[in-house]
Amino acid sequence: MTPNPAVLITGASSGIGATYADRFAARGHDLVLVARSADRLNEVAARLRSARGVSVDVVQADLADHEALERVSARLGEDDRIGILVNNAGVGLSGAFADQNPGAVAKLVAVNVGAVTTLAQAAARRFVDAGNGAIVNISSVVGLIPEFGQTAYAASKAFVTTLSQSMAVELSGKGVYVQAVLPAATATEIWTRAGSNPSRLPPMMDVGALVDAALVGFDRREAITIPVLSDAGLWDSYQNARKAMLPEFGGVVPAARYRAA
Ligand code: NAP
Repeated sequence: MTPNPAVLITGASSGIGATYADRFAARGHDLVLVARSADRLNEVAARLRSARGVSVDVVQADLADHEALERVSARLGEDDRIGILVNNAGVGLSGAFADQNPGAVAKLVAVNVGAVTTLAQAAARRFVDAGNGAIVNISSVVGLIPEFGQTAYAASKAFVTTLSQSMAVELSGKGVYVQAVLPAATATEIWTRAGSNPSRLPPMMDVGALVDAALVGFDRREAITIPVLSDAGLWDSYQNARKAMLPEFGGVVPAARYRAA
């Protein structure tokens, strides 16, 4: 990777994505910013061009739309100035799973799962050919909390974490770094956009603190970064509990406890 490759950031018009844009610009990286709101992207771009002196391209795209997603994917596949993907765009949805609008659930899956996968693959293909590159997937601790009552959102983030872990296994030997970032509650617009009741919001981390912590993990080349987790050994114990089951997954007969009497 060149020392300062360009960074493509999805969901860069607000919140975590806009903050990543600011931090990478401060490090001297040129940017390609993607979201639906061209006005807001242009505001971010104008501010960063003038404050940070970097080149910023804006790509207006609804990542739930197949053609728009293909356009962004093609850009990742063709623009060899881009050496880092921040796969950040995502949506939440309040309410009980059985009551949520099916179209809204499908859109959540399209953005949080479909677009993340398509863009990660487009970046991975070119980065593997180049023998370098970095892919940052923004997941969530909610993917580890089925008890949280965010059924489809939680599942989408569990997908992003597993996608990232599996990509890291495949790609680390090919010069490509993959990081999953698992924020906890962070003060951005996502909560109100998802329709959450403003009087029932949890305490939140400042978005600048979140992204700065995630970048500490990025600079250390961590595979999993959980900014609120003070004891990294807890994550290791969780992984070890999972790995303890693996020898049994090669079995070919039901375990004794499932054999009919
Ligand atoms: P946010 O401020 O609402 O930002 C979401 C970004 O995604 C916006 O730039 C939005 O821009 C973009 N986006 C949404 N739908 C899109 C679509 N269909 N096509 C293209 N862009 C789209 O929320 P945020 O908290 O920064 O969220 C960023 C990521 O962090 C998400 O993946 C979220 O799941 C994750 N996360 C957030 C928290 C938290 O508490 N905030 C915690 C854990 C994980 P436009 O509206 O302009 O398209």
